[in-house]
Amino acid sequence: MEKRRPTFEPLLHALDLFGDRWSLLILQSVFLRVRRYDDIRARLGISPTTLSARLRALVDAEVLEQAPYRTPNRTRMEYRITTRGLPLWQLLVSIWFWEKTWVPGRAAELPRLVHLDCGTAVTPELACTECATPVRPREIGAVRNQTAPLSLTSNRPSGGSLAGKGITDPLVLFHTALDIMGDRWSIALLTFAFMGVNRFSGFQRELAIGPGVLAGRLRKLVRVGVLTVGRRGDPTAYRLTAKGLALFPSLAFVLHWCQADFPPDDPSILTVRHRGPNHPFVPVLRCPRCGGLLGRDNTRIDPPTVGGNA
Ligand SMILES: [Zn+2]
Ligand SMILES: [Zn+2]
Repeated sequence: MEKRRPTFEPLLHALDLFGDRWSLLILQSVFLRVRRYDDIRARLGISPTTLSARLRALVDAEVLEQAPYRTPNRTRMEYRITTRGLPLWQLLVSIWFWEKTWVPGRAAELPRLVHLDCGTAVTPELACTECATPVRPREIGAVRNQTAPLSLTSNRPSGGSLAGKGITDPLVLFHTALDIMGDRWSIALLTFAFMGVNRFSGFQRELAIGPGVLAGRLRKLVRVGVLTVGRRGDPTAYRLTAKGLALFPSLAFVLHWCQADFPPDDPSILTVRHRGPNHPFVPVLRCPRCGGLLGRDNTRIDPPTVGGNA
């Protein structure tokens, strides 16, 4: 068996899969039970070439699987989430609630998530599986046990704008969140920011990125308000804002998906721990009302209420 090289490959693999707005929207569609090729295409207004390529990548990664169904004339394929893909529900819900909370006007447009066990519309909170308590970003420590810069080799364009395609489903139109979470460089930069990197040179050490691309991405992250630069008397330091810190659940689920993918007998390339109690951190979504865990099977998606609370 081929020995794994000590690189940051699990994160690379995840970024390659999810650092792309179309892949996230295709996964979201299948989770919402829009499973057939033509239905996904109609929902997203995506080109057949792009849709086929992304579906193939998601099937190759064993996140989706194909299942045949009969039409009057022939057998066609629909797509289902695999066991391996199921935890990605929490990633998508985290992205959805970040947008709902932080992008003006979106609270009223986006649907509500109802926890069936307690019957309330909730904003999920991030919790630690091991001790079942809600966690904040500062309580989680991630250490990268690797010194070579992370190289994002495949530079696939992340897909064109959804504007002007007649798309009306508010869950498809995640302009701001997908601008960040659908872009692999942005996810990587924010991950390192959470790990304490705060200078241009620091990001360059961690990431094999050209100075022009790095400067452009940092500018974008400052413009959308998730990073700030030059505060507290230090003109070159980047910091996560409250809006940026709120992306932590989404990033935690991306990282966890990488970790879960990694064989347990391999010394971990990235260690993520709950600092206080000092145990491995496995993220879950929890209901702030009753404390129960939130999953696809015990929640319902309701149309938004006027005023858009919860
Ligand atoms: Zn814990
Ligand atoms: Zn509840």
